[in-house]
Amino acid sequence: MKFCSQCGSTVEHRIPAGDNRPRFVCTSCATVHYQNPRIVAGCLPVWGEQVLLCRRAIEPRRGFWTLPAGFMENGETTAEAAARETVEEACARVGSLQLYTLYDLPHISQLHVFFRAELVDGQFDVGEESLEVRLFDEAQIPWNELAFPTVGRTLKYYFADRLQHNYPIRNEGVAPMRPANQD
Ligand code: ZN
Repeated sequence: MKFCSQCGSTVEHRIPAGDNRPRFVCTSCATVHYQNPRIVAGCLPVWGEQVLLCRRAIEPRRGFWTLPAGFMENGETTAEAAARETVEEACARVGSLQLYTLYDLPHISQLHVFFRAELVDGQFDVGEESLEVRLFDEAQIPWNELAFPTVGRTLKYYFADRLQHNYPIRNEGVAPMRPANQD
């Protein structure tokens, strides 16, 4: 950040009085511009024995498969965000959303939240941010072509939990991704 969004003056990076970490503070109007983690919300859409994945048309990780997910908007709940992203990326309507996985990614200041969900009518199509959208059986999951570690972990938990018919909520930290050539 270089300029104050309130008055357009330059900002400086310093610890405000009474605070304990550096913030961007306006040199003119003294507004403190707090920066906080961003929330990514998504769905694990299920249709019978199959799950729905999207192949990304945008960076990062273009061409890799993901669960439909994206940044939460102001004014919506996490479940609404997850359902909206599923419409946008897979043209699919979901219901019966159940909170399932919560991943902390402090190295990139993100929180990823996934809901188990059911496709309402089995209909889907390729959304604007996708190259391809399709249903996968467990044996068909492209494990080496998944876009993000949180997607792979959520899918692994799902197929394991499905055997027990029990889906406990998982909350874990995730370490930085390794370079692709080490996978
Ligand atoms: Zn200002």
